[in-house]
Amino acid sequence: GLPVIYLITPTYTRMEQKAELTRLSQTLMHVKNIHWIVIEDADAKTNLVARFLKQTGFNYTHLNVATPAHFKLASNDPSWLKPRGVLQRNAGLAWLRSNTKKQPGVLFFVDDDNTYSLRLFEEMRFTKKVSVWPVGIVGYLRYETPIVTDGKVTGWFTYFKPTRPFPMDMAGFAVNLALIHSHPGAGFSNEVERGYQESTFLTGLGVTLDDLEPKANMCSEVLVWHTRTEKSSLRNEEKMWKKYGLQSDPNIEV
Ligand code: UDP
Ligand code: MN
Repeated sequence: GLPVIYLITPTYTRMEQKAELTRLSQTLMHVKNIHWIVIEDADAKTNLVARFLKQTGFNYTHLNVATPAHFKLASNDPSWLKPRGVLQRNAGLAWLRSNTKKQPGVLFFVDDDNTYSLRLFEEMRFTKKVSVWPVGIVGYLRYETPIVTDGKVTGWFTYFKPTRPFPMDMAGFAVNLALIHSHPGAGFSNEVERGYQESTFLTGLGVTLDDLEPKANMCSEVLVWHTRTEKSSLRNEEKMWKKYGLQSDPNIEV
């Protein structure tokens, strides 16, 4: 049948989390044959995410693993300072290796705040080894993309460290499930140089430039955007109490 698309999503508790997950899930509702692996960056699974996933009706797996304090971004740190989602994505990979067999499947890393065209999922579904495509609004550019010549990837349109083996964002590729099984050591690490997560993973899978399958009309169309959500201020919560003697209801989940 149709290959299953396995989606690995790291997520963490913050004011915008349920909004992000709602938007993403309502995109995924339009995609056939998916299995959503959601890994909370936390010592325990939260009720919010557990309830949320249950009501989607999806095939899903809910996992959790906490990022060690030393590697965790402080709220005022710039986002590029430390890698995000490393142990969570590895937990997703470990689950895939123990819970899937060599059935047809594809793996795609889906951050909870990006924006996905439905067309992207059908572009990646029949990935033989590794599919690649442009990512919009990333790397302080309009887009980053593999450069395609005569149907093959020959280089990269990326400003930041373009000499990395695979200088692209996590949203820029999908991998055949068989490759995950044949390379059990491939994964992510908190110890690698900044910007090298994708390169570390794909190098670990034994991927070469020649293996890359350019999608999205030979990498000429943007079907995913690295959107980021503004951090919400709650500065009137306390003032509400001081000025009007009113408090928001903690039983209302936001
Ligand atoms: N994330 C996480 N723990 C964190 C920060 C981020 O699990 O401490 C998740 C986040 O929910 C997202 C992914 O990791 O799915 C990438 O994080 P983010 O979108 O903040 O990174 P950026 O957009 O800056 O690359
Ligand atoms: Mn993001």
